[in-house]
Amino acid sequence: MPLIGKTIDEKIWNYLKAQGLTDFGAAGLIGNLQAESGLSSTNLQNSFENAPAKTGGVSYTDASYTAAVDSGAYTGFVSDRAGYGLAQWTYPTRKQALLNFVKTMGRSIGDLEAQLGFLITELAGSFPRVLADLKSTTSVQEASDCVLLNFERPADQSQSVKNKRAGYGQAFYDKFAKGSADVMGYTNSSLATVKLISPNKNSPRNKPLDIITIHCFVGQVTAKRGCEVFQPTSKNASCNYVVGLDGGIGLCVEEKDRSWCTSSAANDNRAVTIEVASDTAHPYAVTAKAYAALLDLVTDICRRNGKRKLLWLGDKAKTLAYKPAADEMLLTVHRWYAAKACPGEYLFSRQAAIAEEVTKRLGGASAPTPAPPNTATDFESYTVRVTATNLNIRKGAGTNFHSAGYIKPGVYTIVEEADGKGATRWGKLKSGMGWISLDYAKKV
Ligand SMILES: [Zn+2]
Repeated sequence: MPLIGKTIDEKIWNYLKAQGLTDFGAAGLIGNLQAESGLSSTNLQNSFENAPAKTGGVSYTDASYTAAVDSGAYTGFVSDRAGYGLAQWTYPTRKQALLNFVKTMGRSIGDLEAQLGFLITELAGSFPRVLADLKSTTSVQEASDCVLLNFERPADQSQSVKNKRAGYGQAFYDKFAKGSADVMGYTNSSLATVKLISPNKNSPRNKPLDIITIHCFVGQVTAKRGCEVFQPTSKNASCNYVVGLDGGIGLCVEEKDRSWCTSSAANDNRAVTIEVASDTAHPYAVTAKAYAALLDLVTDICRRNGKRKLLWLGDKAKTLAYKPAADEMLLTVHRWYAAKACPGEYLFSRQAAIAEEVTKRLGGASAPTPAPPNTATDFESYTVRVTATNLNIRKGAGTNFHSAGYIKPGVYTIVEEADGKGATRWGKLKSGMGWISLDYAKKV
C-alpha cells in the first residue's frame, strides 16, 4: 500500500492513523520521531557523520551511509551503535531486526514506508503496552511521554525534553487533527484555469462533502470577473467555483473550505457551490458553453471525491432527510434556503438532467432518483371549502405559529399536509399565505 500524503509528515500521520492510533497517539509518536530524526528516514546520528574512526575507517554522510549499507560495502550497520532512521534505532538487536525487515521487503535501509512498517511491527511485538496506549490515549503529552520513556528511552529524559517533544507532537496535532479536512484528501479541480481565492469563507469546512449546489450568477461574466466580484470582504459572499459564459472555470474557494453562497451554513459546509454565468432575467439562461463546462466540472468534483452517483431528489425535505451513501452526491438549490429564484428556471429545470448525465459519465448505475426511506409518494393537491369566518392562517403547521390573519370563506387549494399543534391535521395553502386547520375545511 503506497503512503498517502503530499509531505513526509502527512504520509507518516496518515500511516499511523491507518494503524489505529488516536489523533493524540499519532501526534505524540510523530513528535518523538521529529526529535529523533527530523522525520528523515536516512538520518545517521550526527556524531557518526564524517567520523571514520567510528564507521570502519570511512567518512559517511546520511546518503553515503545509506547507500553503503544497501550495497553491502559497509558491514558495521548492526554493531556500530550509530542511531539511524526515523526512530534513530541504535541497539544492535534492534538494528539487526530493522535490517532484516527491510531486506524482506526488498527495500533500502532508508526507505520510509519500510521503516514505518518496522516501527509498527516492533511496537506490536516488543512494546505492546506502548502501542495500546497510543491507540487509546486522549492526550498528546501522555502519548509523547509514553513513547519517550518506554520506547525511545534517550539518555536525557528530563522534564524539558518531555515538554519539547510534546510540543512537537502538539504542533502535528494542530496541523493534522484540527484541520482534518486538509488531510482528508480534498483537492481542487484541474479544470479551473483561473484561481482567485476569496477571503469570504470558513476554513476548513466542518462536514464531509456530499452536496453540490448550482447557482445562477445573474450576469454573463467570465470566470475571472465572477471570481473578482467575491474578492472584497464587504461582499460577504463567495462560491467554490465560477463557470464563465465562455466555459472557463474559476476557483474562488478551495473545496476543503466552506463558501458563503447558499444562505445556509448547514448546506455550504457540505457543499461545493458553483456560480454559473447567466442572463439577468427569467429564466436566467446560461450559454451552451457554460452548460457543457458545468457538466464537466460537476463530474470532476464527484469523481475526485469518490462519488459515483449524483442524485436530484427534487424536494428540500426529502433531500435533507436522505442519508447519502459514501459514493453518492446530492444536488440542492438556493431557492430552498432563501426567497430567491436561484438557480433560475433554466438551471432549476435541468437539475434532474444534470444528475442523470453526470451519473452516466461516472459509470454509476443510472439511478432513477431513489425514494428516500419513510417518505410517502408525492402529495396530490386538492381543494377545500372554508365556511368559518374566524379561521386563522398560520405561518406554520400549528397554533404555535403566528397568525397571518383570517382566511375569507371560499374554496382553496391545499398543496401539502402536516401534523401540528391545535388541529388533527394542517393544510398548506397554494397561495403561499400559510397553513390552516383542516378541521374547519371540507374537501370538495
Ligand atoms: Zn444562489
